[in-house]
Amino acid sequence: MAAAPPERRPDGAARAAALMSAARRITALTGAGISTDSGIPDFRGPQGVWTKDPAAAAMSTIGAYISDPEVRRRAWRHRLAHPAWGAGPNRGHAALVELERAGRLHGLVTQNIDGLHQAAGSDPALVLEIHGTMREAECLSCGLRTPMPEVLARVEAGEEDPPCPECGGIQKSATISFGQALRQDVLDASVAAARSCDLMLAVGTSLTVHPAAGLCDEAVENGARLVIVNAEPTPYDPMADAIVRDPIGEALPRLVAAALATPPRATPPGATPPAGPSGGGPDARPGEAPDGPPG
Ligand SMILES: [Zn+2]
Repeated sequence: MAAAPPERRPDGAARAAALMSAARRITALTGAGISTDSGIPDFRGPQGVWTKDPAAAAMSTIGAYISDPEVRRRAWRHRLAHPAWGAGPNRGHAALVELERAGRLHGLVTQNIDGLHQAAGSDPALVLEIHGTMREAECLSCGLRTPMPEVLARVEAGEEDPPCPECGGIQKSATISFGQALRQDVLDASVAAARSCDLMLAVGTSLTVHPAAGLCDEAVENGARLVIVNAEPTPYDPMADAIVRDPIGEALPRLVAAALATPPRATPPGATPPAGPSGGGPDARPGEAPDGPPG
């Protein structure tokens, strides 16, 4: 990433609000940070589950999951105990619903598997779960999808590693583990949402996991502004037009209020798009390992 020219340097919340009010087609990219207020831990941050417990990370590696029944038994126990089952959406999720209902949210790509955007009221057709969902189980042999609560009921009833009811194959949550490819249709739709927005709003994501983080490249290379709302620095900070470090539950409602306070203009003020796709810059690093949420 090249150094940002002066007019693109971040200068915080006020600038982010101004950019939001000018944007007509906002695509949001959300990560674990938006769900921590709902009581769901960040698996990757300084206090992350994986950081503290490497064995938990092993459950998210597809090879270990397939080859080791003990890994699967442990994974099912973790799924049963996952904090998301008792969690509800928070003010950050609600703010994005408000943005959507005002017609200003163009796409909602999430790295989260918890389903809380839909629980908050986001249109399921708008939500792109780039790392899958823990709300369904998927058979690794025949692809059968089953609502996760049905499978977890079998675990509670004593099946430690419940096989597929259709073919007897190994079941797993319908999430993307390390070593598994992302679903191409979801990835394609995410890239399209990034390329066709005029503002990319990255919320609660460390922007270290590809290809999700590369959606910021796709957006900026196609002329969009980049606003980052995250407590910690990210590798994309030098590319951002504005960075907000405030807690998401406060920052996001404020930004959405700013966006809705003024009707969108035809062209954002001072928005000279940066170089287009031919203007250089690294591509979105396809082929790098996807994230592996536990499951
Ligand atoms: Zn099956």
